[in-house]
Amino acid sequence: MKKKIVVLAGDGIGPEIMTSGVTILKKAVENSEIAFEFEAHPFGGAAIDAKGEPLPEETLTACQQADAILLGAIGGPKWEHAAQTPEQGLLALRKALHLFANIRPISVPNALLPLSPVKEQIVKGTDFVVVRELTSGIYFGEPRHLGEAEAYDTNRYQEDEIRRIIRKAFEIAQDRRKHVLSVDKANVLATSKLWRKIAEEVAQEFPDCTLEHQYVDSAAMRIVQNPTAFDVIVTENLFGDILSDEASVLPGTLGVLPSASHSESGVSLYEPIHGSAPDIAGKNIANPVSMILSASLMLRQSFNMNDEADRIENACFEAMEEGILTKDLGGETTTTAFTEAILEKLK
Ligand code: ATP
Ligand code: MG
Repeated sequence: MKKKIVVLAGDGIGPEIMTSGVTILKKAVENSEIAFEFEAHPFGGAAIDAKGEPLPEETLTACQQADAILLGAIGGPKWEHAAQTPEQGLLALRKALHLFANIRPISVPNALLPLSPVKEQIVKGTDFVVVRELTSGIYFGEPRHLGEAEAYDTNRYQEDEIRRIIRKAFEIAQDRRKHVLSVDKANVLATSKLWRKIAEEVAQEFPDCTLEHQYVDSAAMRIVQNPTAFDVIVTENLFGDILSDEASVLPGTLGVLPSASHSESGVSLYEPIHGSAPDIAGKNIANPVSMILSASLMLRQSFNMNDEADRIENACFEAMEEGILTKDLGGETTTTAFTEAILEKLK
């Protein structure tokens, strides 16, 4: 079986960390039943330079026909005032692919415990996933209005939009510790009351998993007070935006955090949570772990290759514990040297 991976390296540190991620991915799957072919396409600022637009049609078509997409990072000061910005290209891509589910796994490897802004004994063992609804809710609801003396937005959710994101959370929980925490504000919001009801219904389809509910305000406290209590958190667009950023400070650097975005039946996109980091681009000092873990998330979630994904993740965590650390983690290991170290571990 052959699977096509579209590679969008993008801008800034994107190409450097992509080289690292793809090199390690190739090594990890070399003896697997599934073979991968990689196809690179211009996207973001790089595509503006090459083709005059951030999301050229052939890039979009390739993405639509791919089995999975790996994205580095896009944007930078060079294109801030472009007619179409790289960020617009990314929004257009997400929309065209109907990526409704944004997944951010948050873990704190032992090597990073001293970097966490949260006390070691509290953050040690943190390993959870935030599942955020990405294409509905208050960011999209109509009507909306901005006047001089009054303004409003509409938080709107359809039953099927809630059902599919809750299902996605349970599917992820099945491969983990089988616990789903649905976060809402059901004591106040109508959308949250519907959300809670649908969550209960979907839970019946997953008898091997447990469902718990929590209000968003108390979940926000718990993320820093007791982060090891979570397995899978699922929540609506606005709450997910806030909670996933809150959670991303736990490891003490953005350089180790991957993400996935899923559609209902189509292709999924995997990318680091950070931006293109123009301040460190081209210096061979970027931390490639965010990209490497994005690739392993792809193996897990798009191809069910959990053994290969485990090997990649363990190699990264082991390397960091051995003190093989890039500059953002206080070390001196370069991007390419880190990649070599992981390759060695995968032999
Ligand atoms: P964007 O607007 O695209 O999200 P940003 O301005 O928020 O970008 P990032 O590119 O996410 O910024 O970077 C924020 C800081 O984190 C920068 O100082 C950057 O150098 C650092 N950083 C981000 N990713 C990495 C990485 N993989 N390795 C090392 N440092 C990183
Ligand atoms: Mg940012």
